[in-house]
Amino acid sequence: CGIVGVLSTHEAAPILVESLKRLEYRGYDSAGIATVNAGKLDRRRAVGKLVNLSDLLVHEPLAGKSGIGHTRWATHGAPSVINAHPHQAGPVSVVHNGIIENFRELRAELAANGINCTTETDTETVALLAQHHLSKGANPVEAANRTLDRLEGAFALAFLFEGEDDLMIVARKGSPLAIGYGEGEMYVGSDAIALAPLTDQICYLEEGDRAVMTRTSVEIRDAKGNIANRAVRTIEIDS
Ligand code: GLU
Repeated sequence: CGIVGVLSTHEAAPILVESLKRLEYRGYDSAGIATVNAGKLDRRRAVGKLVNLSDLLVHEPLAGKSGIGHTRWATHGAPSVINAHPHQAGPVSVVHNGIIENFRELRAELAANGINCTTETDTETVALLAQHHLSKGANPVEAANRTLDRLEGAFALAFLFEGEDDLMIVARKGSPLAIGYGEGEMYVGSDAIALAPLTDQICYLEEGDRAVMTRTSVEIRDAKGNIANRAVRTIEIDS
C-alpha cells in the first residue's frame, strides 16, 4: 500500500500513476487518484492492478495539476471501488495508509451530527470529519488539524481541498512519509523511491509531524504543534 501526492506544473494523473507503480512492491488490492481541476475535486478508482486504473483513465481522463494517489491494502471493508481511496466528502479528498483505531467512535459522533458513512472503511471518517469542520467555517489547515487531533492509530494521510489548487496537507504517525522538493513543484510519497523520477531532494517527516505544502513551500510542525526544521537531503536512487 502507498500514498503519493503532487503539486505539479504538469498534468498530475500520469505522474501519480507512475509514482504509484513504484510503490507496487508493497502490495495492494485497489488504487485511485484525485485531482483539483479548475478548483473542482474529482477522482478515479479501480479494483485490482494499477493497469485497471490506467485503463479507466484512458476512457475517463482526469485533468488537473494537483493530485493525490493511493494503493490500498484493505484493512476495513472489502476491496471494492466504493471502499477504494481517495475518499471524498464534499470539498475534501483524503488518502490514507494504516488504521484509524477509533473510527467506530468517530462514526458514532458523526452520526450524532446527522452525518452518515457510505463506505465500510475507517478512512471515510477522516474525510467526513474534515468536511464537518469546513462546514463550520474552519479553513483547510484548521479543518485538517482538528481532524488529525482526533485520530488514534498508525497512519499516513494526505488531504486535498476543493478550490485549493496550491495546497496539500499531509501527516505522519506510524507510517513513513517523504516530501520531495522540485522546481516550483512539491511531492509527497510513502518513500523516496516513489518520487525518484521527480526529485532527489527528500525530507522525511518524523513521527507525529504534519506538513502544509504548496508548490514553493513546506511548513512542518511537530507533534506538539511547533515549527520543525527537518533536513532536506540529496538521496541517490535509480530512477
Ligand atoms: N485502513 C484503510 C482501508 O482499509 C487503509 C488501508 C491501507 O493502508 O491501504 O481502507
